[in-house]
Amino acid sequence: MSDTNTPEQTKPSETYPGSCHCGRVKYNAIISPPLTDPECSVMECNCSICARNGHLFVYLADDKVIFEKGSIEDLTKYTFGAHKMGHFFCPVCGTNCFSRSVFPGFYDGMTAVNVRALHDVDLKKLTLKQADGKSYKSA
Ligand SMILES: [Zn+2]
Repeated sequence: MSDTNTPEQTKPSETYPGSCHCGRVKYNAIISPPLTDPECSVMECNCSICARNGHLFVYLADDKVIFEKGSIEDLTKYTFGAHKMGHFFCPVCGTNCFSRSVFPGFYDGMTAVNVRALHDVDLKKLTLKQADGKSYKSA
């Protein structure tokens, strides 16, 4: 547990370049605190789509994901279940880049960035947190 009252904006942030495999989309993800900080919530989820795709994700505000090449329009959107969350993947190479709500009032303004599609991240240095998406049926 942390008893710090440090305001959000004083935490360091780090910019991570990311892309799909073929390079159709390229973007930067601004993550605070940095991924290797134990307080950074890198989530490993057991829901049906994360289990299949091996997603590791961090939740960022939409404006912390800055496209350098292409845009969300260049990705294919997949939804299932309650169809509230769009899972965006490259139609050419199949890389899952991120998930974003497509349902007003549900995680508005948040993007779940797939850490595996960010470049040069040492996954062994991450402190993974478990998300029980399997038990959460409304997404
Ligand atoms: Zn691609």
